[in-house]
Amino acid sequence: MTKPLLPLPAHHSVAIIGAGIAGLACGQVLASSGASVTLFDKARGPGGRMSSKRRPSATLDLGAQAFSVRDADFQRAVDEWIAVGCLAAWPTRTYQASSRGWQTHNDGQKRYVGAPRMSALARHMADSLTAMPNAELHTGTPIVALEPSPNGWLLLAADESRYGPYDQIVISAPPPQAHTLVNPWDDILAATCLTREQRACWAGWAIFEGPLPAIPGVAPEWQMARLDHTVLNIVSRNQTKPGRETQPESVSLLAQLDWSEAQLEQPAEVVAERLLSALKSVYPTAATIPKLMETGAHRWRYAQPSTPSEYDYLYSANGLALCGDSFRSGRVEDAWLSGHRLGEKLIGRSVQ
Ligand SMILES: Cc1cc2nc3c(=O)[nH]c(=O)nc-3n(C[C@H](O)[C@H](O)[C@H](O)COP(=O)(O)OP(=O)(O)OC[C@H]3O[C@@H](n4cnc5c(N)ncnc54)[C@H](O)[C@@H]3O)c2cc1C
Repeated sequence: MTKPLLPLPAHHSVAIIGAGIAGLACGQVLASSGASVTLFDKARGPGGRMSSKRRPSATLDLGAQAFSVRDADFQRAVDEWIAVGCLAAWPTRTYQASSRGWQTHNDGQKRYVGAPRMSALARHMADSLTAMPNAELHTGTPIVALEPSPNGWLLLAADESRYGPYDQIVISAPPPQAHTLVNPWDDILAATCLTREQRACWAGWAIFEGPLPAIPGVAPEWQMARLDHTVLNIVSRNQTKPGRETQPESVSLLAQLDWSEAQLEQPAEVVAERLLSALKSVYPTAATIPKLMETGAHRWRYAQPSTPSEYDYLYSANGLALCGDSFRSGRVEDAWLSGHRLGEKLIGRSVQ
């Protein structure tokens, strides 16, 4: 949006709805500049689509499995996270698989994963943020409405408690969820949310009693495979990720988007079973798949935007702003850049 925006004075208060990587990155810039920052997330912890499922025997990444870096600012952040130990390089052994066979697959991109689980990165960002005296995080707090007041914006939570007033509201929830909040107050932001259509994705998971069988010609320690299959898109082996080496065989099974959307209202158990059958179909028929300990599936109704967007974030002069991966191209790096750059814009550091 090209409309001039007055930078927030340092003492101003900002509420950020959504503590995924975009909201956390925005909060980091704002709190470091001296603004008073309060983050809200409806989930039990921060991380959003970079979340991990903790089971007694294993931890499985349910959203992003790994991410790449192109931007120099994001690379600097990544280097810091590697230095503190909440991020590590992964995967290095990837394959392209179908019922006709497996081939090594290397696109030359270096990728990273949170250590010892993907959600550790958001946890680290949230801990560094809330270690500042001017920042706090409320988890388990769905925000259901915004209300203007003479002293700024109030937030209404699902349990009917009110927070605020705040000078600035940043919403990093996916656009369909942001739409509900901005719709009564800003026609342009609301209309833009409607144009940012989202794709859904089912993410299955399974923990086995023993290792998956060897496949002729494939490294036994293979880490991730992209599948040429109508149901299953990506398989990744959580016990090959840094910090999880002692856990049993535990796979994340990301479904194809078209198939996910066709199965959107199916029960999770049915989806998990179909994703497992799809995995078995890319193994040689004689291979014995080990006994299953546990399985399940998580539905991401808003997994990724269906098209890239030409701007990093959106804001209006009335103190409402939107950020998140949907305002770029739907990757972890896009989410971080969107939140980071919106933060810089709000404190007047960016002229974009
Ligand atoms: C299955 C899957 C696989 C993926 N794989 C990759 C990959 O390989 N590489 C890659 O780079 N990216 C991948 N991504 C995309 C990546 O996960 C996202 O781009 C990134 O995590 C988005 O971050 P975000 O902060 O913009 O949004 P989110 O992480 O969605 O954060 C938004 C937050 O807002 C909260 N929220 C929503 N509404 C409210 C409300 N009303 N009140 C309070 N809180 C609210 C949510 O709980 C959530 O925590 C994948 C995503 C999925 C789902």
